[in-house]
Amino acid sequence: MNKAFKYRFYPSAEQEILINKTFGCVRFVYNQMLANRKEIYEQLKHDKEALKKQKYVLPSAFKKEFEWLKEVDSLALANAQLNLQTAYRNFFRDKSVGFPKFKSKHHDKKSYTTNNQGGTIRIIDSKTIRLPKLKNVRIKLHRQLPKEATVKSATISKTSTGKYYVSVLVEYEVKTKPVEPTPETVLGLDYSSASLFVDSQANSAEYPKFYRNAEARLKKEQRKLSKRKKGSKNREKQRLKVAKLHEKVANQRKDFLHKLSGQIANACTAVAIEDLNMRGMAQGLKLAKSTNDNGFGMLKTFLAYKLAGQGKQLVLVDKWFPSSKLCRFCQNKNKGLTLADRTWVCGHCGAELQRDVNAAINIKNEGCRMLGIA
Ligand SMILES: [Zn+2]
Repeated sequence: MNKAFKYRFYPSAEQEILINKTFGCVRFVYNQMLANRKEIYEQLKHDKEALKKQKYVLPSAFKKEFEWLKEVDSLALANAQLNLQTAYRNFFRDKSVGFPKFKSKHHDKKSYTTNNQGGTIRIIDSKTIRLPKLKNVRIKLHRQLPKEATVKSATISKTSTGKYYVSVLVEYEVKTKPVEPTPETVLGLDYSSASLFVDSQANSAEYPKFYRNAEARLKKEQRKLSKRKKGSKNREKQRLKVAKLHEKVANQRKDFLHKLSGQIANACTAVAIEDLNMRGMAQGLKLAKSTNDNGFGMLKTFLAYKLAGQGKQLVLVDKWFPSSKLCRFCQNKNKGLTLADRTWVCGHCGAELQRDVNAAINIKNEGCRMLGIA
């Protein structure tokens, strides 16, 4: 399986300059290529066949015009091209995601990805990693890579608080034996905007709303920031304060979800979950704040690899499966159920149903059916 291992690292002043230059070059190349695509798209959007046959400019073309691009890792530029290709394809598959946007120096994450070519990315010792162009960099190796793992790529990023991280993507064989699921030990999770999820044993995640809790403080500090003079030292100080606050909240959330997903993965033999598009939901239901805050998508990601690491499965139930509307006892479908109905009585068998728990049990049962153990 593929897994990323993220480490903090400490570049020298010289390495820092090169890294930041690479961020800039990657953004530049991405934006240049996007401008080219945009122009072609505007000309040909009504002629699908011609659009399909179009050739786009490649990073190498820019290198002739912009000599300074040669100074940075060429693989980083190639990956920028791949990222744009993916964004572009996503746009054609689903127009609601919108045309890819230009990357901004101030608002987008500073990062680039480079590939391992015959050991150009490797851990040298507990304090050193080798990275293309940067050579040896001081790293905090808080955990080892799995034995016999093949390093595929590394993504170098810088947070708004000025910390550097490298995420090393590796491929390795999981030697754990697959665990046979049983109906009693499969857990169903129903997404809940109020409490992250309710499970098929009627437990809720009791998720602390990290962003909501910090909101008043964040707003206050943000207001202070907007009053500071642009370019002043005090503004930079305040900007850092706001960024650190955001970072703290994000870390709290991540820690919580790591613990929670670990507990679930240890306790069950499989987990069934709805295959929801969280971004679509945030937009569609105008629940943006609570949906973004509760990290259901992140939980899903953590669960997927923690279960896989133990030879267990995460089962994705189709998002059109009517988990809320089915009576779990007689399978009768309550077509008139609305989002506001927290409890309902089955018109067919008369069972009194709690919306979330009923849905979680239906998801679990559907998961068991998909696993072939219903
Ligand atoms: Zn019923």
